[in-house]
Amino acid sequence: MAEHESLEFGKADFVLMDNVSLEEFMANLKLRFEKGRIYTYIGEVVVSVNPYRAMNIYGRDTIEQYKGRELYERPPHLFAIADAAYKAMKRRNKDTCIVISGESGAGKTEASKYIMQYIAAITNPGQRAEVERVKNMLLKSNCVLEAFGNAKTNRNDNSSRFGKYMDINFDFKGDPIGGHINNYLLEKSRVIFQQEGERSFHSFYQVCVSVYSSIDDGVDFKAVADAMKVIGFTADELQTVYKVLATILHLGNLTFGVDGDTTLIENSKVVAVIGDLLATKEENVEKALLYRTVATGRDVIDKQHTAQEASYGRDALAKAMYERMFCWIVGRINDVIEVKDYDAKVHGKNTVIGVLDIYGFEIFQNNSFEQFCINYCNEKLQQLFIQLVLRQEQEEYQREGIPWKHIDFFNNQIIVDLVELQHKGIFSVLDEACMNVGKVTDEVFLQGLNSKLANHVHYTSRKLSPTDKSLEFDRDFRIRHYAGNVVEFNALHYVMWPEGKLRITEVTKRPLTAATLFKNSMIALVENLACKEPYYVRCIKPNDVKSPLLFEHERCRHQVEYLGLLENVRVRRAGFANRQEYPRFLQRYKMISEFTWPNHDLPSEKEAVKKLVQGCGFEHDVAYGKTKVFIRTPRTLFCLEEQRTEMV
Ligand code: ADP
Ligand code: MG
Repeated sequence: MAEHESLEFGKADFVLMDNVSLEEFMANLKLRFEKGRIYTYIGEVVVSVNPYRAMNIYGRDTIEQYKGRELYERPPHLFAIADAAYKAMKRRNKDTCIVISGESGAGKTEASKYIMQYIAAITNPGQRAEVERVKNMLLKSNCVLEAFGNAKTNRNDNSSRFGKYMDINFDFKGDPIGGHINNYLLEKSRVIFQQEGERSFHSFYQVCVSVYSSIDDGVDFKAVADAMKVIGFTADELQTVYKVLATILHLGNLTFGVDGDTTLIENSKVVAVIGDLLATKEENVEKALLYRTVATGRDVIDKQHTAQEASYGRDALAKAMYERMFCWIVGRINDVIEVKDYDAKVHGKNTVIGVLDIYGFEIFQNNSFEQFCINYCNEKLQQLFIQLVLRQEQEEYQREGIPWKHIDFFNNQIIVDLVELQHKGIFSVLDEACMNVGKVTDEVFLQGLNSKLANHVHYTSRKLSPTDKSLEFDRDFRIRHYAGNVVEFNALHYVMWPEGKLRITEVTKRPLTAATLFKNSMIALVENLACKEPYYVRCIKPNDVKSPLLFEHERCRHQVEYLGLLENVRVRRAGFANRQEYPRFLQRYKMISEFTWPNHDLPSEKEAVKKLVQGCGFEHDVAYGKTKVFIRTPRTLFCLEEQRTEMV
């Protein structure tokens, strides 16, 4: 339990609740929010409520308070989790990761930045120049990625429209020596369309600042350009980026018409500008926009688009250009931050802390392919959380033969399977529907879903539930997600076919679809996280109006529920704060007991640990498993550590 906080601020750890009930959980969360205590633990999980106001809790002095401390010595804070992840990495040579989840606007990205700032602040005491350089790059990269990957939405003025996983590599001294960023599913449709009240990516407003955007965009433009220069983008590269942005803006102004049989571009001046920007002839731009190349047998012919096809092609081009530019920027940043020193890579101790900041569940009026992917991603992460925190915990107690009251929790594996299962899942059906390029229709896709998934309890469609009013259109289908009672998906009007890199006549194998690529990247992400020691930050958004005062009960309750926080408390309470294998435990603490120092004469290490624990008077707080000793409260561990420190 966290010390140094009076009960006036509620309970610093939900584990300390008198009764584990949703009411008490909510009351504590609300009380703490109102008292300005935005962080609360569930054991080692931090629950954070977005304060929507500047908090004076991230400064140098606060960092000093948390540095090197145990989790329970100070009030709950992101810094404590960051420190715990860092310590585990450094002391035990473990790769760790910090998974930050929550819905849009809940405070994930801010949290990830504070965590990185903390890590930067507590490392490199020797002020090594190379390490300082790396840290500077890592921090600067945020600013650049936000310019190109974030946008104002109705939920969040600075909403990340891509998922981000960042590894920070450390050397044997525990100092950052590099990093790597993976980005996931940029919401590229935003380039061509925004909901009422929303904007496209910040970068567009920044480049045309003098024309029609706000003052802030101008200030940001300078900051981003400076950050890019620091990271090592050359002047030429910056120019290229601006040209791509300008090209996309001009593409948006192009309109198409028809004259007899001919499709034509109505504003040819714009074509000239685009040609200039791309350093190509006007004819090339025209041809690219008005024709498509098709292969018939060995022949390649150019077929004219209709006006509608041409505008579809224009939008697809704009989206693809932006996405590729974004990926290129991430790649350039990676070039600069990746671990350079060959020795450090191959011989040196090189451990990582990963930070995952990824979009939360999205439930809109009209949900398209992107929401589908985002929500699938959240199902995967929830599955990981269940596996790591809940299931592993239970299974370990069972394995170790420690009495354990079974706790029921909803296992969302069934929904993950619905989406990703080979041959039967939605992704597979979608891939099949995409096999016939040109012929794929929403109907074919929907028929496939209906025939394969008719009996799945988490799936339905208009055809299967004709009386369901919430399924408005024939093309709608619905997935019952873990987070939301009802989620509708309008059929995928703009499922994209990935452009092949080969010449069209050389294409023998079909390229992987966007859906499969995304699925594979999610599976890889989860595998990567699963082999690290995870720390969790669960972010909650208190209201929809960005108010620092309002705690909307119903809204928060919903989030607490779908984040599985109450189950988390139950497991934690049933559980033990710490567990260690007998030999390890003995190795670490044998000096504090006369029975075990310097050697013991007991028949087994387990017996020796028992004797040690008895001698220290912690008997009541400990359980003995087959291979491990389990310690119930953190305070006990704390005392052991203190005694140990006195001895060594
Ligand atoms: P998410 O990444 O979850 O969509 P953000 O991290 O972008 O959400 O947070 C949305 C907004 O909420 C921020 O722009 C900021 O105004 C506010 N906010 C979030 N966390 C904090 C915090 N710890 N302190 C102050 N304001 C915050
Ligand atoms: Mg964000």
